[in-house]
Amino acid sequence: MKETSYVMVKPGFADDKKVIETIKGRLTGVGLKIEKEAYVKYDVEHARAHYAAHVNEEFYPKLEKYITGSKAYGMIVTGESAISTIRALVGATKNPDEGTIRYDIPKMLGLPLRVTENVVHASDGTEAAEKEIAIFNELVKKNINQNM
Ligand code: UDP
Ligand code: MG
Repeated sequence: MKETSYVMVKPGFADDKKVIETIKGRLTGVGLKIEKEAYVKYDVEHARAHYAAHVNEEFYPKLEKYITGSKAYGMIVTGESAISTIRALVGATKNPDEGTIRYDIPKMLGLPLRVTENVVHASDGTEAAEKEIAIFNELVKKNINQNM
């Protein structure tokens, strides 16, 4: 089934063009299509909305600081089974396997693997994707108005 997902290169990695191109290449390399892409700066309100399921976790303050720290790079991605295909490309939250984005990008840069300050977000379902894309679209508008 054709699906839509939201992929966000997180702030620690979004300012590196080679990282962005590598991640885009992995997505398009399996036939997925990037429908829209933009740098966006998450404020606290939008970070809390995006990570609503996690706001009460002990790691949330650290996560919010990371996500709101500088610009992220958001992408709306479509294709056959996009949600699960992208989750597999991204890798696990903890101890991602070699060959996944979460493993390969830090290795490429000579950086340690980090759980909170990881490379990317990818939607875990179609409902989450819809919600996350609405937040992304709001930020794109807001950032345009702020001349970003
Ligand atoms: N996270 C964290 N500690 C944890 C679990 C998650 O810092 O124990 C952070 C990490 O940045 C992760 C995000 O919170 O990407 C969302 O967590 P989730 O469990 O949804 O993982 P994901 O879907 O990103 O793999
Ligand atoms: Mg998640």
